Amino acid sequence: MSKLYYSREEMQRLNIAKLLERGVKVEDIAIIAYNQQYRYNKDISMEACIESVEKILSLRDIFHLVQLGAEIDRLTEEKAFRGPIQEIMENDLGVFGVDEIFGLDIARLYGAIGQTNFGDIDVNKPGIVAKLNEEGKAGKKSCHTFLDDIVGAIAAAASTRVAQIWSEDVASKAKDA
Ligand code: MG
Repeated sequence: MSKLYYSREEMQRLNIAKLLERGVKVEDIAIIAYNQQYRYNKDISMEACIESVEKILSLRDIFHLVQLGAEIDRLTEEKAFRGPIQEIMENDLGVFGVDEIFGLDIARLYGAIGQTNFGDIDVNKPGIVAKLNEEGKAGKKSCHTFLDDIVGAIAAAASTRVAQIWSEDVASKAKDA
């Protein structure tokens, strides 16, 4: 029987490899999380954002969404889908919302703040999200219909996680004082 179950370490490694294959580095995601949190909190570090992105990439639900979303984009590039859905995904149709569902599902892991942080990234398209969106535009050979939402949502989740960890640190310092 082929392999079905993966450890957290394996899922993290496979996710990082899959994102890289699609042109996205952990640092590209972490910098979005950093810039989002830095607006509210000057104490946060890029290292903490990288650590949060890596942690999120080891989660099973994220593993399935990253692996599936990236494969849908690849198969769309190869024109492997039949029927109207091929054109719809190839053109990243504005009223096609299944890719946003993937993003929202990732962001939901970090509650209401995770989801509003995802909304901010989805609308403002910072860094790699804008690059993916631009590369995936109609007429270009790349399709990033799912990946831009997945990447934006991981950044939103990491940004929220960093804020949560920072809050816990403040609380524990206050307790010790
Ligand atoms: Mg999209």
